Amino acid sequence: MQLAIVIPIYNEQEILPELYSRLKQVCDGIDAVQWQVIYVNDGSLDDSVRVVLDQHAEDSRFCLVNLSRNFGHQAAISAGLAHADADAVVVMDADLQDPPEVIPKLIDCWRAGGEVVRAERTSRQERGLRRLGFSAFHAIFGWISDFPIPAQAGVFGLLDRRAVAEFNRLPERNRFIPGLRSWIGFDQRTVSYDRMDRQAGEPKQSLGRLFRYAMDGVFGFSYKPLRIMTYAGAGISGLGFATAITFIVRRLAGFEVAQTGFTTLITVSLTLGGVQLIALGLLGEYLGRIYDEVKQRPLYIVGRRHGISAPS
Ligand code: UDP
Ligand code: MG
Repeated sequence: MQLAIVIPIYNEQEILPELYSRLKQVCDGIDAVQWQVIYVNDGSLDDSVRVVLDQHAEDSRFCLVNLSRNFGHQAAISAGLAHADADAVVVMDADLQDPPEVIPKLIDCWRAGGEVVRAERTSRQERGLRRLGFSAFHAIFGWISDFPIPAQAGVFGLLDRRAVAEFNRLPERNRFIPGLRSWIGFDQRTVSYDRMDRQAGEPKQSLGRLFRYAMDGVFGFSYKPLRIMTYAGAGISGLGFATAITFIVRRLAGFEVAQTGFTTLITVSLTLGGVQLIALGLLGEYLGRIYDEVKQRPLYIVGRRHGISAPS
């Protein structure tokens, strides 16, 4: 059987040597498997390409798809999946947070019949703001998504040939891979592992980027934000109507309608203005995404390939 391992790379020169030796050791230990590593260089600015090409020269099973610039993590993975022509394809990050030692477990699960195998982390090593961000995202996402997506799974996992083919057919540009991977269906299974800390270098995904990614997740899988705005609008209108009635009744009953109330007025108008802007912003999020789809630009552009041919 053939196995392909897709790894996106963005400025990972420090980690590549260790990744190389660990992948080799692990994959050579799996029996009856012919394997290939597909590195997707996502416009690295450091020496990653040179390091990868050295690896390719030493062992031709390490191939490279070089994108023409930085397109982002999800696009790089999509590029790798488009190039993979194997019975099973593993997707993992380069930073060894997804340990190669888990690959045999994924394969076992696949051999037992799993067509989409998610690697689910039992622990997380991130600290501080990142950690808080991840848990907040999963809490909000779990509630908001119209479609159940397991919280503890990132991109790390294995896809059967058929699942890869279906994944490659997905046309959308804003990709939230853990979501799409659940969405395609098939026999989905889970393997757990301990998520390590990044072995070297800084995280390459800035918090801002992770935030955008989270937004892709929410807006790509749910209309609930729109619905919430509709309900909020209905609620606030109802409140306004009730207030008006109260004032009219009080006036007719002969009470003086209060003259003061500057604080109340200013608070109400600021709050309402804010809510309206948020609602507009939410509409804009969907609209911007529609615009991206309509433009039909490719998700990524491949510069050169080394050791691998263009997808047919
Ligand atoms: N990465 C990429 N393009 C980017 C940013 C990151 O291909 O624009 C790669 C990076 O080299 C790594 C993986 O995506 O292999 C995950 O990145 P990182 O570890 O920085 O993200 P996090 O672990 O915070 O999700
Ligand atoms: Mg990482």
